[in-house]
Amino acid sequence: MLKNYAICGAVLIDGNGGEPVANSTVLVRDGRIAEIGVNLPIPADMTVIDAKGKTLLPGFIDAHLHLCMGDKDLSIPGSGLPLGLADHAGLRVLKSYDYALKNLNAGFTTLRDAGDYTDNTMQVKKAIDQGIVHGPRIISSNMFLSTTGGHNDLYPSFLQRTDNPKNNCDGPVEVLKAVRYQIHRGAEWVKFFATGGIMDPHLKQEFNDEEVAIIVRETHARQKKVFAHCMWEQGTLAAVRAGIDSVEHGSRLTEEIIDEMVKRGTWYVPTLCVLDASATMGRDYGLSEYYCGRAKWFYDSNLEGVKMAKERGVKIAFGSDSGFNAQKHGTNGREFIQYVKAGFTPMEAIVCATRNNAEMLDLLDEIGTVETGKLADLVLVDGDPLADISILANADNITMVMRSGVIYKQL
Ligand SMILES: [Zn+2]
Repeated sequence: MLKNYAICGAVLIDGNGGEPVANSTVLVRDGRIAEIGVNLPIPADMTVIDAKGKTLLPGFIDAHLHLCMGDKDLSIPGSGLPLGLADHAGLRVLKSYDYALKNLNAGFTTLRDAGDYTDNTMQVKKAIDQGIVHGPRIISSNMFLSTTGGHNDLYPSFLQRTDNPKNNCDGPVEVLKAVRYQIHRGAEWVKFFATGGIMDPHLKQEFNDEEVAIIVRETHARQKKVFAHCMWEQGTLAAVRAGIDSVEHGSRLTEEIIDEMVKRGTWYVPTLCVLDASATMGRDYGLSEYYCGRAKWFYDSNLEGVKMAKERGVKIAFGSDSGFNAQKHGTNGREFIQYVKAGFTPMEAIVCATRNNAEMLDLLDEIGTVETGKLADLVLVDGDPLADISILANADNITMVMRSGVIYKQL
């Protein structure tokens, strides 16, 4: 049985970007937001949560992270083997679940997983959806699609693969099959590599135009959405023109790409903090000087890209790429700081992680803002994030996390 709650006295930031409301009362009944006001009478059956001195916000949404990797894994790009290759699948699932909880603990009640090497993360999502274990809401893309020799084809060339990985695919038939396979296995978004990344600058465009068109067309034909890793102009432009729903990373954006994104309403998830983490903390994780320098170069490019995109009215969402090398699960809030560095107000940064992300994920009817009738995904924060956005980067400042009316954390 769900408990009913009255959250009293907090400054309410509802996720829509308007003025905060002091001394708010938010009533939660049967897992949903029943009433919002100031100094409301409290029904007798409600448990009161005294939130004076705190800020109440919608549960945050991270639209780009990877539960298949994290700080318990060797995460040195270019090391030659997929992360955790030596782990049993069962151990991978448990690690992924641990990472999911770290995100929840930091106030992120909904996660869009941006791809796995296997379908282990999908099992974590299913276990949470089925109520077997508690955790954040996960929107999964299952396995990310790459070409032979592409960004995710991580096996050294002297190893002959005898398995059938389903996500390294080339040509119309294989690409079509790979999309259908991921969706059959539960993918709600299909993720593919439109370009290489930090260490593969030769991959300016990974899948060719024909393959990209098939991925996008087939995903949309099955009423799913498609997002792509985009770090070079050529592949990014091809993917946007083919009709992808969101550009991930979006390094080296040009006026031409931005024009297309504005015209098509393509979302942008700039993932600044992962590049910042690699550039500034990568050495502690064994990343080479060369790698850290490249990360800084991409970071500068993304920072400029976000500024341009914001100015031109591109729809901007929020994703941390947590799990990828130095960007740890549970420090997702570091991305808020980056948005403020890029010229967003703290309120605009918060809207990206709440209302905008919910809209991108087609979940705005249920989550993303504090409004009557929506699911009670709520976080309480110690202090005022509008005065100091960095408080959202430390999970210790997140004193309560509620998902669908159930409290998972209360300090
Ligand atoms: Zn990623």
